[in-house]
Amino acid sequence: MIKPILFALSLVALTTATTVTAQNNRQRTRATANNTYYQRQNHLLDSVISRYIELDAQESRSSYMSGDNPADDLYEGAWGTSGVNANRVEVSEVPDSVVISCKGYVAPVIGSTTSHFGPRGSRNHYGIDIALHTGDPVGAAFDGKVRITRYDRGGYGYYVVIRHPNGLETVYGHLSEIKVFQGQSVVAGQTIGLGGSTGRSTGPHLHFEARFLGNPINPEKLFDFQENKAIADNYFLVKRNSFDWAYGGRSYRSSSNHRHSSSRGARYHKVRKGETLSGIASRYGVSVKELCRLNRLSRRSVLRPGQRLRCS
Ligand SMILES: [Zn+2]
Repeated sequence: MIKPILFALSLVALTTATTVTAQNNRQRTRATANNTYYQRQNHLLDSVISRYIELDAQESRSSYMSGDNPADDLYEGAWGTSGVNANRVEVSEVPDSVVISCKGYVAPVIGSTTSHFGPRGSRNHYGIDIALHTGDPVGAAFDGKVRITRYDRGGYGYYVVIRHPNGLETVYGHLSEIKVFQGQSVVAGQTIGLGGSTGRSTGPHLHFEARFLGNPINPEKLFDFQENKAIADNYFLVKRNSFDWAYGGRSYRSSSNHRHSSSRGARYHKVRKGETLSGIASRYGVSVKELCRLNRLSRRSVLRPGQRLRCS
């Protein structure tokens, strides 16, 4: 686990950052009156961030140099090779806020973005698509260690998953050829495969994902794909924002389907007034027992309107 102090610090930083942003937006017209307030807040934020970066650098280095897998503390030593979210971590289990260092990022390919993260047809698109020509080299986004090399006929095609010391994992899909092996250490920018159009794909492109504890974050929240650099040295993961797709954001379809293409994902239900466990269970074709198990409820649990239940 990440040391509590890092969370505490990141939480302070995030709270402060949110406050500053909200204040900026709300009170732009009254800015002069509040100048000293902003200065104080910004100063506090700066000192917290720089302190954090120091700790983060030590932490990353030590976990990476230990000779084990990167970010092992975070993943509790789990190194499954069965899929992108091999540990099956739910968004609810991810810490509320984490600071992720984006230093050392190298764009996997240089090309135009042809599809963004978000809803696509009846499911979510958990990465972004970048145009390329078949055979173009695709590079690792950060230093790291290859967790998966695999072929997924109906989805990613030939794909690679790399775990990085900053806790992120990156996924590279539709490759025509894989140039690394599972367990191999790679450096940022190193060719890990060649671009292609394997799997569920209509033309050559790279499908690129960024995941934290198995759950996807819109890569465009972290990286600028026009400038081909990280947006900032640190990304502040805030669960509600970073995993907005899991919270039934307006335009997102609720699903914890972690596969690029599959209809086997979890389904969620937002409880409405008067609904019962048995009513919801029958609607989704599951037993009350299963519904309780999925949501860690007892049969006598009182449902709140607006509560989200996992139904499959
Ligand atoms: Zn894609």
